[in-house]
Amino acid sequence: MTRLMNAAVFDGTETLDLRQIPVQEPGPDEVLLRIDTATICGTDLHILEKKFEAKPPVVLGHEFSGHVEAVGDRVTTCRPGDAVSVEPHIYCGCCKPCRIGKPHLCIDRLAWGINLNGGFAQYATVRHDVVYQLPEGLPLEQAALAELLGCVMNGIERLNVGIGDTVVILGGGAAGILLAKLAEKCGAAQIIFSEPNAARREAIQGFGYELAFDPATTDLLDEVHSRTGGLGADVVIDAAGVPATAAQAPLLACYAGRVLFFGVMAPGRMIEIEPNLVFARELAILGSIRNPFTHHRILQLMPKLGLEGIITHHFGVENTQEAFDAARRGVGLKVAIRPNGPADATA
Ligand SMILES: [Zn+2]
Ligand SMILES: [Zn+2]
Repeated sequence: MTRLMNAAVFDGTETLDLRQIPVQEPGPDEVLLRIDTATICGTDLHILEKKFEAKPPVVLGHEFSGHVEAVGDRVTTCRPGDAVSVEPHIYCGCCKPCRIGKPHLCIDRLAWGINLNGGFAQYATVRHDVVYQLPEGLPLEQAALAELLGCVMNGIERLNVGIGDTVVILGGGAAGILLAKLAEKCGAAQIIFSEPNAARREAIQGFGYELAFDPATTDLLDEVHSRTGGLGADVVIDAAGVPATAAQAPLLACYAGRVLFFGVMAPGRMIEIEPNLVFARELAILGSIRNPFTHHRILQLMPKLGLEGIITHHFGVENTQEAFDAARRGVGLKVAIRPNGPADATA
């Protein structure tokens, strides 16, 4: 008999369709997960706004954790009852990026929650090789952050953050705070945030980052210069992904500075950059996307990262649309769906 589950389905329109769909029993190489937590990513919002390609009808949610419920005949890497996290991408293996050791840039990739049914449902059926065991001391709820943290880790590794560096982070949502945590692990001496939302500035300070400024009332360039002997920051990260912050980022960087575009800006949006500045200071302007070989490593570190308080809101799967509205309004930091409860819908 076919079992049914509650799921939030992207059907190509601007709102999610809450419906009951069959639970897909695992094939020989697959794992059936009972979802614990699935967090909402900016990409999910972009999918509904048609700024990021997904393949409807599909259950969204690419950042999720859960318990293994059943495994296929050939699966030996996990067992029913295991607490696991998912790195949701699979790559073709045949395109140029795949064949030069950059599979995360694969041009023919698939991802659960983008083109395959993902985590905003009570169950998900995934390939065994995207399932990762949790290290001791990592709660399942926090394990849903591993996908985002794997992307954050890629950005920090691209930037080569070093001991004693000054790091400026433009945009202090969940990603901004996680970027700060990893920059700190790499030895950053000071971290300066720019964030227009007062509640988020308070949250940033709650995580121990005192230097959180409102760009509307602070001249950030002055502020950065006053704390770096007039030179600028070693590392500047645009975690907001809007033209104003992207354009500002290179201006804040010092000699030999590194600038990262981490926040996702919609395709087609443009900014102006002064090439002479990049030339004269030997700036490196970098991008980072996804999580190449970072998921396993970041999971090991996560119990020591102090992630409590990153997920600020929880909703049941039946309230997924409400959860998306909260995420779009910038309520709290990270908004999560707990498809099998418990939920405390507060926004
Ligand atoms: Zn994401
Ligand atoms: Zn490929």
